[in-house]
Amino acid sequence: ISKSNGSSHSFFNQHTQQNLNLRSQLESRLMDALNKNELSLNYQPLVHLKTQRVVGAEALLRWHNPVLGNVPPDKFISLAERNGQIIDIGNFVLHTALSQTAKWYKTVEHDFKIAINISPLQIRNPRFIDHVADLLKLYQLPATALELEITEGLLLQDEHIAHFTIQKLQQLGIKISLDDFGTGYSSLSYLQKYSFNTLKIDRCFIKKLEENKQDRELTKTIIAIGKKLNLEVIAEGVETINQDAFIRKERCDLGQGYFYGKPMNAEQFERTFIHKKCT
Ligand code: C2E
Ligand code: CA
Ligand code: CA
Ligand code: CA
Repeated sequence: ISKSNGSSHSFFNQHTQQNLNLRSQLESRLMDALNKNELSLNYQPLVHLKTQRVVGAEALLRWHNPVLGNVPPDKFISLAERNGQIIDIGNFVLHTALSQTAKWYKTVEHDFKIAINISPLQIRNPRFIDHVADLLKLYQLPATALELEITEGLLLQDEHIAHFTIQKLQQLGIKISLDDFGTGYSSLSYLQKYSFNTLKIDRCFIKKLEENKQDRELTKTIIAIGKKLNLEVIAEGVETINQDAFIRKERCDLGQGYFYGKPMNAEQFERTFIHKKCT
């Protein structure tokens, strides 16, 4: 008994130690990631369902480290939020996405928008509004070309600051999107408290649309809520033609997902969606 206790105990320790090592390794390598140009952005098309036109892109962060390989954002964003690196990383994302969009903006129709994910720590910074306004000026982009995606969770803290910031950004003409709608604890109360421009239905509702009646009813209802509130509604994670047909029928505004295009680098995105004139 004592032996088996001992070994399970040491196994636990080993396991924890491994996790710690992995995390501190990730953390220290992430410190250098920006300087070593290991971070980049992918772009995924946003498709206007009625016209089938690509009317924008979501910028998605990628990290390739020579030792760790590709590390998905879900694995390092929260880490970067905990140690504050998200501010520098977030600035990199804003700069890169806006300078890229400025190039595309010369070719595309001017309803094109770039959607950028924003962390709570960025929003909480009082200088964030000026910073974003300066960047738009720097890259000579109209505010309407920018949509900032925020998730439900982040608004829980510092309600006043969040409220003020969202309002100011919207006064500048920047659009604010409520990301991952329906997955948080208080989705509806967010719609009550803040004014958004866009509502993104989380992938978890779209995933099983075909087999699950309950998910179909929920998706219909979320689209209807968005419409009633005059929000643009985007369905995320559309992978199949049947899912596309369903959200189309329910008059969802935009679709995003592998069915229309996977996240891809700027060059591929440009080749696939920018120079090609869409019908
Ligand atoms: P998100 O904002 O909900 O982004 C959508 C995620 O769904 C992306 O994962 C995208 O690659 C994936 N996706 C898109 N279409 C499909 C589909 O049809 N099927 C499936 N299975 N997945 C699809 P990704 O790129 O791994 O990003 C994960 C999360 O990391 C994002 O979720 C976002 O919360 C965060 N993130 C990504 N880039 C940034 C960034 O620049 N800043 C911040 N703060 N967070 C970011
Ligand atoms: Ca997003
Ligand atoms: Ca999302
Ligand atoms: Ca998400």
